[in-house]
Amino acid sequence: MRTRIENVTLVTTDEANHLYPQGCLVIEDDTILALNDFDLEVDEVIDGKQGLLLPGMINTHCHLGMIPFRSLGDDCPDRLRRFLFPLENAAMTRELAQASARYAAAEMMLGGVTTVFDMYYFEDALAEAMSEMNMRAVLAETIVDFANCDSNEPYGGLAISEQFIAQWKNRHPLITPAIGPHATNTNSAEALKQAQAIAERYDVLLSLHAAEMDYEMEMFRKEKNQTPIEYLESIGLLSPHLVAAHCIHVHDQDLRLMAQHGCRIAHCIGSNTKAGKGVAPLKKMIEQGIPVGLGSDGASSGNTLDLFSQLPLVGKAHKTANHDRSLFPAKEILPLATLGGARVLNLENQIGSLTPGKKADLVLVETQSVNMYPIYDPFSVLVYSANASNVDSVWVNGVQTVKHKQLVRHDLRALRADLEAKMQVFKAEALRRSEDL
Ligand SMILES: [Zn+2]
Repeated sequence: MRTRIENVTLVTTDEANHLYPQGCLVIEDDTILALNDFDLEVDEVIDGKQGLLLPGMINTHCHLGMIPFRSLGDDCPDRLRRFLFPLENAAMTRELAQASARYAAAEMMLGGVTTVFDMYYFEDALAEAMSEMNMRAVLAETIVDFANCDSNEPYGGLAISEQFIAQWKNRHPLITPAIGPHATNTNSAEALKQAQAIAERYDVLLSLHAAEMDYEMEMFRKEKNQTPIEYLESIGLLSPHLVAAHCIHVHDQDLRLMAQHGCRIAHCIGSNTKAGKGVAPLKKMIEQGIPVGLGSDGASSGNTLDLFSQLPLVGKAHKTANHDRSLFPAKEILPLATLGGARVLNLENQIGSLTPGKKADLVLVETQSVNMYPIYDPFSVLVYSANASNVDSVWVNGVQTVKHKQLVRHDLRALRADLEAKMQVFKAEALRRSEDL
C-alpha cells in the first residue's frame, strides 16, 4: 500500500533541518518511501491542504498511569511525598492505570506525539494498552524503596521489570521494554546497581529522575559530599543506558561526566518550572553533546501530555534565564521534540525525522485556524503559534490514528467513560486527602 501526502510543507527535522515548501511524502506500508517524488505510482493521495507535515513528536518522559491525578494539589509544596505517593499507594490499580494509559495515548496522538518513554507501574498492562492504541512506546516499570500499588515489598519492581523485559523484548514492532528505578534518592545503591545489571543484561534503557529536587541535592551533599550525578558515577549508573529525567541542578562537572559516559537527558521544562524547581542548563547539555529530548512528565506534573505546550516554554524559559533573546531560535527547539527525542531513546535509525527508510510516524498540522496565519517561518509558527489542537492527522508506523482531529480507530468518549468508571474509588480517596493539603 502506497500513500502520497501532497500540498504540504515538509518540516523534516533531519540532520540538516531541511524544509521543503510545496513538497510531498510517500508512505509504503510502515515506512517513508520518498520525499518530493510526485511521479511514484501510489494507491491513495491525501491533500494536506497547505499544512505542515513533520515527524511524530517523541515524549521522552511521562507517567501514563497518572491521568487521574490531573489538577490535584497543583500548588501544594512537597506534593510528591506528602500527597502523590500515599494516594497512589492507596488507590491506584492495574485496571485504572491501564484505562489511564489508553486515555493518555489518545491525548498524545491527538496532540501530535507518536512515541512515549513511560515510567509507571503495571507496565505489562500499559504495553497492552499502547499496542491497542497503536502508539509507539518505550516502557519502564518503576522500582522504589517502599511497597507500592504494584508490589507488596520494597524493590518489587526489580523482579517485575525482569519478567516484563523478557516478555516484551523484540516481540512487538511498537513496544520496547525498559527499566525505571524511580530516583537517586528513592532507591538504595544496591537496588540501582541491580537495575543497571538488568539494563545491561537485556540491553534496555534505564529511566531515572535525577538532580530534580532540592532535598535530593541537600541529602547527597550532606551524606556523601557529592552531587547526585557524581554519586551515580561512583556506583556505575552512568552509561549509555541512562535516560535521566529533569537534571535541573546539574553542575558543569556533572554534565562532563554524563557526556563521557554517553548518558541522555529528558528535559521537562513545563513540569520543572510549574513546580518552581528551576531552569535546567539546556544550552550546556547540548554543548556537551548529550542527546536531549523533551518530556511532558505525568499529567499531575505537566498537566498536558503533548509537546506543543513544551516548545514555547523551552524558548521563553531559557531566553529569560539567560537574558538572551537570540538563544534557542525556533529551528533549534523543534528538533528537540523529534530527532532529539529519537536520539535519547536510541531510535534515531527508525524515527525522529522525515527521511526515506525511517518509519512513517507523521504529524500533519493544519494552517487554517485563526492562530496559524500568516506563516513566514514554519519553525516559529510550530514553536510559538501552534498548539495541540492544530494537529489534523497522525500516522504511527504507517497507520493513520488521527484524521481531521478525531481518533480513527477509537472513540474518545468511550475511552473517557471507561476511565471515569474505573476512577470512582480513586476520586473519592483523592478528594478526601486533598482536603488536608
Ligand atoms: Zn517524572
